[in-house]
Amino acid sequence: MALNVIMMGPPGAGKGTQAERFANERGLPKISTGDILREAIRERNPTALAAQARMDRGELVDDETIIAIVKERLLRADAQNGFVLDGFPRTVAQARALDELMGRLESGPLIVVDVAVPEHELVRRLANRKICEGCGTNAVPTDAAACGQCGGQLVQRADDDHGVVLERLRIYQQSTRPVLEYYKQRPTFRVVNGAQPPERVALDLNAMIDDAAAARR
Ligand code: AMP
Repeated sequence: MALNVIMMGPPGAGKGTQAERFANERGLPKISTGDILREAIRERNPTALAAQARMDRGELVDDETIIAIVKERLLRADAQNGFVLDGFPRTVAQARALDELMGRLESGPLIVVDVAVPEHELVRRLANRKICEGCGTNAVPTDAAACGQCGGQLVQRADDDHGVVLERLRIYQQSTRPVLEYYKQRPTFRVVNGAQPPERVALDLNAMIDDAAAARR
């Protein structure tokens, strides 16, 4: 059965890093709506360019645009054995659209993992986060001089500025917390302690996802 995973969690929880790692280990595509949008901006895609101002302010891009991106991506061949979603769904409308799509595809149930981290720790982490100007690699170590993937220059993400960080956390509480409520009652919902060292988070996360996959049968 397909392993369909959603990595939830506030900005700065480390969900992108964990999603990447888990996806690589299991040979699944990691599908990050933030990465797809940033890449589309680099390619000067008009829809993505129209969304850029909202992204830079830390606001959400409209549901219609995001749902269209995810639908198109989940229908591709490489997502048929499962996927790891990072940064989607961020609103209840997106979560409903995903359920509707999964129902139509008759794909396995969604395994939802919330990477939980206290807010003061998130603010500290986000203020130190950088991104590569060249290839867009996220969450590279902040003391590095250049990107480990392509050697490109590391810059602060436009949306990691202090004021924007607080705005992103506020929007998370307002729009994305309700998504956790939406999933919470499902037997395949799990919470991992994201304040632990990344290695420990990865171990817990693997065990929880396997447990949830076994429970759904
Ligand atoms: P991320 O890299 O996941 O933090 O995403 C960066 C920005 O892209 C967000 O702050 C939003 O402006 C936009 N974005 C990414 N995913 C979504 C989504 N599922 N819904 C709405 N906006 C999104």
